[in-house]
Amino acid sequence: MPVFVSKFGGTSLSCADGFKNVFDIVRNNPDRRFIVLSAPGKRFNADTKITDLLIRCEETGRRADFTSIQQRFSDIAKEVGVSIENELDEAEENIFSGAGKACAASRGEYLSAKIFSKMSGFAFLDAKNAVFFHNGKIDEEKTKAALNAAFQVQKRIVMPGFYGADEHGKICLFPRGGSDTTGALAAFCIDADAYENWTDVDGVFRSDPALCPGQKPIDRLSYDETGRILDAGAAVLHPDCLYWARKKGTPIIVRNTFRPHLPGTRIGP
Ligand code: ASP
Repeated sequence: MPVFVSKFGGTSLSCADGFKNVFDIVRNNPDRRFIVLSAPGKRFNADTKITDLLIRCEETGRRADFTSIQQRFSDIAKEVGVSIENELDEAEENIFSGAGKACAASRGEYLSAKIFSKMSGFAFLDAKNAVFFHNGKIDEEKTKAALNAAFQVQKRIVMPGFYGADEHGKICLFPRGGSDTTGALAAFCIDADAYENWTDVDGVFRSDPALCPGQKPIDRLSYDETGRILDAGAAVLHPDCLYWARKKGTPIIVRNTFRPHLPGTRIGP
């Protein structure tokens, strides 16, 4: 049976309706068996991403700053019909007990994946036990072994993006926007048939669709062409994805969570 690793970005998960929509997309295709999630992003232009709120919380050390984060996750959880209170308490404890900036910043992805696991029945896999760093770089063999071991036991998995851990169990982060990289890495490690990157645009465009409306997304691209488009400033995909996709020729499919009927852009060798 084919396996897709499907990653959903922050704008796709900014509110409860976003989580419900993501669950519908996942349910729509039984091949979507390995899900990677970002932290809730902005709901409107002047909003702040959960990751930024978490970083601020850790910097100020003010428990009051955690209230809006707590509220946002509690509201989402309540609306999708699950409880996240224990996990929120645990995250608050982590942040204010000096676990460090990386741990604090990672809690948005952690809580997103916890909520999705509870609402979907997909097994929660903590990236801290499955994505391993050594001297700031991915330990490929260890990560491969851990992801495959987990996927052999659980046939449907949801894992937080953006972080992993070093050999001492300390949380390490990918660069900002790095949940994309987690998805591509997971697809490489478990030999997935495709890596779906679900975002808030219809695919990859020749130029910024916000500045040049009316264009159609490109149907197919090579890794090299995509690399050049990303180098020119397109923010549709984290460029580090290409490294992991290239290694085995995994197709990357960029699709719009808000217009899931569209085919998106297919990127390959
Ligand atoms: N939440 C992280 C960020 O804001 C990672 C991601 O969304 O991919 O950068």
